Amino acid sequence: MAKQEDQFKKVVSHAKEYGYVFQSSEIYDGLSAVYDYAQNGVELKKNIREYWWKSMVQMHDNIVGLDAAIFMHPTTWKASGHVDAFNDPLIDNKDSKKRYRADVLIEDYVGKLDAKIEKEVKKAQKRFGDAFNKEEFLATNGRVLGWKERGAAILKRMGQSLEKEDLADVKALIEELEIGCPLSGSKNWTDVKQFNLMFGTKLGASADSAMDLYLRPETAQGIFVNFLNVQKTGRMKIPFGIAQTGKAFRNEIVARQFIFRMREFEQMEMQFFVRPGTQQEWYEKWKETRLKWHVSLGLGEDNYRFHDHDKLAHYADAAADIEFRFPFGFKELEGIHSRTDFDLKAHEEYSGKKLQYFDPELGESYTPYVVETSVGLDRLFLAVFSNALQEEALENGTTRTVLKLPAVLAPTKAAIFPLVKKDGLPEVARKIVDDLKFDFNVMYDEKDAVGKRYRRQDAAGTPFCITVDHDTLNDNSVTVRHRDTMEQTRVPISELKAIISKEVSMADWLQKM
Ligand code: ATP
Repeated sequence: MAKQEDQFKKVVSHAKEYGYVFQSSEIYDGLSAVYDYAQNGVELKKNIREYWWKSMVQMHDNIVGLDAAIFMHPTTWKASGHVDAFNDPLIDNKDSKKRYRADVLIEDYVGKLDAKIEKEVKKAQKRFGDAFNKEEFLATNGRVLGWKERGAAILKRMGQSLEKEDLADVKALIEELEIGCPLSGSKNWTDVKQFNLMFGTKLGASADSAMDLYLRPETAQGIFVNFLNVQKTGRMKIPFGIAQTGKAFRNEIVARQFIFRMREFEQMEMQFFVRPGTQQEWYEKWKETRLKWHVSLGLGEDNYRFHDHDKLAHYADAAADIEFRFPFGFKELEGIHSRTDFDLKAHEEYSGKKLQYFDPELGESYTPYVVETSVGLDRLFLAVFSNALQEEALENGTTRTVLKLPAVLAPTKAAIFPLVKKDGLPEVARKIVDDLKFDFNVMYDEKDAVGKRYRRQDAAGTPFCITVDHDTLNDNSVTVRHRDTMEQTRVPISELKAIISKEVSMADWLQKM
């Protein structure tokens, strides 16, 4: 656990030191669970967003984009159920005065059982070596099966109690499991209460005519209220999807995990409209498609798993999370939800406007069902960034810090160095920058010894370093050094564009998927 915490602290401090993420309003001691993306962070975030957008919108001829406003008519949130049901169960510890989400306390308890299982697997792996069969071990080892069953039973009971709004049982479960306050260990808990997560604000100048508004807690509703506009103007035929990226706001009860849980964050959502009765099939298809997309980033297949929901949101008939192995354990990265016709029907009812689709093949109108894929851009950023940050022991006994970001997402694709700041080398290096900058984000750096410049770029996540030396003046070639392998090759300047492009081109990454 301590190792995990250390690793996470390193992630947070590295993100600051290398210009990725800053605490919001830091000079005023910060604003809790709100963060700013700095010069490198904004590029990484933009690249992740673009990779998602292209694979969703550009690669699918039946998915189109949308950019709806953050402010929406307040009835939207009545219809969607958020005013009445967008709550989290909170619990306070009477001794430490710390506030927690009751469901998260229980999930973390189950997370510890999962960690025990993983430890047992590792032990067995060591014992049996090549002969080890993980699947068989998981299916037959008595202790593992016991922990698994226990975890599943706990989550099931919690899910059922939350669904029934039986908050007394949620508290009883916490007490039965003897869960203590993570900070103080105290088991002196208050009752569990519901807490609405939406931020309110006002629209209008005078107090009596002002309208109460909410900052949207999800981007999805902007898609639902525009469903028919897009369908008609785009002449879309079911099945089709509408994709959107944008800010969402939630007054989270506990937000202590850096950009994992923020009060202002960005979502990338796609709502896929289907014929009633086909939703299960599309739900399975999108689960598979989205996992494949994540795996394509190369962070390691073992770092993902599905978690099927026991507790379904008020709008869903099936839901699963894609979980990622963050430095603090497996946690939700993306949600895939079969939202039925709940949202469109509710908007029809509250607005009095029909939101139906005429299906020319069936010759009838119906309210479509919806399968949603919803991923947090900031969470994805954290997954990519924390996975990339590595300390590597080198042959000469030293270590290097390297940020092995997927090349397609790296903020800067290449740094160009003159070996020395004289003899015409800076001019050649600058000329290379000027040629490459039309295709890639590149930078010039002449400060310090080349070794130090390499380390700096390794830590910032730049896949290529290009050094101009005295030989360049005669043979028009440069040294290209690769971030991950540290291999150096001599190549003609004229080939640089092709060499970089081969590794960073989004088109190639999308094609490989
Ligand atoms: P959690 O259970 O972690 O609170 P959720 O199930 O409420 O998440 P959804 O409503 O399904 O989340 O939102 C879809 C995605 O939006 C999540 O998978 C996550 O990546 C992201 N997300 C949700 N809340 C936050 C937040 N407070 N900060 C950052 N990202 C978030």
